[in-house]
Amino acid sequence: MEPLQTQDEISEYIRNEEYVANRYALKFITVSMSVYTIAFILNVVGIFIIEQKLMLFSYIPSVIIYAIVMIVSRLISLEAKATKYFIMVCNIAIFTIMGVFVTYHVVLIAALPLLVATMYSSKRFIKVVYILTVVSTFVVVYGGYYFGLCDANMTLLTTGNLNSYIVDGEFILTQINENPMLTLALFFVLPRCLVYIGFVFACRSIFTIVSGSLEKARLTDELAKAKEEAERANQAKSQFLARMSHEIRTPVNTVIGMNEMIIRECEDENVKGYAYDAKNASFTLLNIINDILDSSKIESGKMEVICGEYEISDMLNELYSMISLKAKDKGLKLVFDIDSSVPAKLYGDDKKIKQVLVNLLTNGVKYTEKGAVTLRLKCDVNGENAVLHYEVADTGIGIKEEDIGKIYDVFQRFDEKRNRNVEGSGLGMKIVQQLLSLMGSKLNIHSEYEKGSEFSFDIEQKIVDIKPLGDFKQGNAATKKAVETEISYVAPAAKVLVVDDNKMNLKVIVNLLKRTEIQVSTAESGKECIKKVCEQHFDMIFLDHMMPEMDGMETFRIIRSNHMCDNVPIVMLTANSSAEDKAMYLEAGFDDFLSKPIMLNRLDEVILKNLPAHLIIRDDLEESAITVEEEQMSVIDSLKIRLPEVDFAVGLATSGGDEEFYLELFDDFTKLTVKEELTKFYQDRDYKNYCIRIHGFKSTSYSLGAKEMGDLAFEMEKLTRESFSDEITDMQEKIFKMYDRICQQYRKAVSVQKGE
Ligand code: ADP
Repeated sequence: MEPLQTQDEISEYIRNEEYVANRYALKFITVSMSVYTIAFILNVVGIFIIEQKLMLFSYIPSVIIYAIVMIVSRLISLEAKATKYFIMVCNIAIFTIMGVFVTYHVVLIAALPLLVATMYSSKRFIKVVYILTVVSTFVVVYGGYYFGLCDANMTLLTTGNLNSYIVDGEFILTQINENPMLTLALFFVLPRCLVYIGFVFACRSIFTIVSGSLEKARLTDELAKAKEEAERANQAKSQFLARMSHEIRTPVNTVIGMNEMIIRECEDENVKGYAYDAKNASFTLLNIINDILDSSKIESGKMEVICGEYEISDMLNELYSMISLKAKDKGLKLVFDIDSSVPAKLYGDDKKIKQVLVNLLTNGVKYTEKGAVTLRLKCDVNGENAVLHYEVADTGIGIKEEDIGKIYDVFQRFDEKRNRNVEGSGLGMKIVQQLLSLMGSKLNIHSEYEKGSEFSFDIEQKIVDIKPLGDFKQGNAATKKAVETEISYVAPAAKVLVVDDNKMNLKVIVNLLKRTEIQVSTAESGKECIKKVCEQHFDMIFLDHMMPEMDGMETFRIIRSNHMCDNVPIVMLTANSSAEDKAMYLEAGFDDFLSKPIMLNRLDEVILKNLPAHLIIRDDLEESAITVEEEQMSVIDSLKIRLPEVDFAVGLATSGGDEEFYLELFDDFTKLTVKEELTKFYQDRDYKNYCIRIHGFKSTSYSLGAKEMGDLAFEMEKLTRESFSDEITDMQEKIFKMYDRICQQYRKAVSVQKGE
């Protein structure tokens, strides 16, 4: 037999084997029962003729018990519940009964090895024993009667208590029939032969049942072993995939990061074009890796639903911005038809819903050549919950009816010929199905070949804010994303530590941070990180997870438990990007989470959210609009445009109208160490010196024309005269922010003037 490969094959084999075993068993039992019944009737007739009631009592119980055992074992075996122990008990009962009542000890002796053999030995051995048993039984029984009935009976006489039967039987036989051999043959030899034929059939049927059930037990064992083996192999596969994905992701992240720098720093449009291609290819690769990782996570049961509050408009905007460029590249319309009554804020796992929709929309775009891809969202409010009905429709190639059932087969891509130029791994739909089932939903598919497809699912979410979403304006996020590479802020005073054991990764993040003017320090291990944190102050730390010796988690625990820098935000920097990982890091106490490859907009988001606000200088001015004209202006005029918070007329007046002197003062003002000093005084709870310092700062601000700045400082002065009050932190943050902004704007104006 071919080795059985899959669980299905093994189950099928068992079912067939069982079926065959039962069928034969049934056949043999039926034949043996019939033969036995005929024999019984003939015997009874014979017994009546010779008036041997003793025999009647010996046959009836044996036949009844035999029949019960047969029927029970047959029923049990037909229901496939026969256990080898039951069959063993039946065998013992049958052979015992046969041995006692049929009285021929040779049968008993022959039956014993058969019994042992059927239970423990190989099939071939059973067959040999079985044939020997049959032959010997016939020889003994038939030969005994034919050649020496009296001898046989005499033997019996000496061992049993049936003397009257023998004596009377022979006497009556000779009396009523002149030909005793005929009577003997008809009423004793024939029925006994039939009994033994029946017995043989019965043995055969028992053997079939026993061997069937033994075979079944063997196959069940095999099945269990195969299942265990398959589970082990599957687990090993999942672990391997997860490890490999991680290993692959690290260098891909470096490629993406380096490529990002080429795009930002390179002037040559050709090279930039290549870099954009490389970027696209890297993201495709990353998506495939993420899909593999997701699917192995789902399979190993590690993927969980993580619920949180979310704004539906945010999710839709993000979706739109992710898909719109792809659709535009293919000349397709992307339509978001969103029910305005959808509640604005919901509670659920938006990340997973988004992942499902991204897969469906991406497929829509991938498999559509012209027309539109539409996302429809309708909503029914059901008490505290909203039932969202999502539908993704396209006017694409559609799916043949016979292929729809295969859509969830992993790595399976049908219509290969048509789709050979379409990128894909064949994992997307399986992930969609698994994610939806995780969230208690399922995908409905309607597709018409060559016309288009519709995928829909319903999902129930708790309502957090019943306020309707209103008109959804698609594209908000797209424009937000488009400014990804623009400088939107700087933080020159900020000190950030980046920890990663991989030098390339460090290079990538240091370069990405270059435009923010942040002062970046690096460390290549957990130990080095701890050392640096002890030596100097940082405003923020990016800490890699996977590092040899001391990983990010352990480093973090040491830093926090020893209160090395309690108020400094620590951001986990990792290639593990799922919502579960994020939840795990936040639970461990990390302030935020940044996944590799680092996306500029996400990096900005993390910095703006976590870096102390007074260190950030936002540059909200429209650079390009003013720089060209600005170069022809005087410094003061340029400053006037850039520094709306400074009244230059006042400033110039206090400097006696001397422009140069005024600019010198302004230059000095931007180099003040006032922030550091004030922070230090505040930390030392030294309100007296704080008050003195802020008083001086107030005067300088007023004299330069920075009235608002002066007013804030004056407020602060009042707050610190007697002690530090609670409002200090907010006020200080405002002052620092404004000061940084003014300094930044001043530096920018001067650099533009110098033509830098
Ligand atoms: P792939 O990575 O190949 O796109 P999926 O699991 O996402 O893998 O989809 C499986 C298969 O289902 C695809 O190869 C494609 O043949 C078919 N398919 C999925 N979505 C669509 C669609 N919108 N239109 C036509 N065919 C589709």
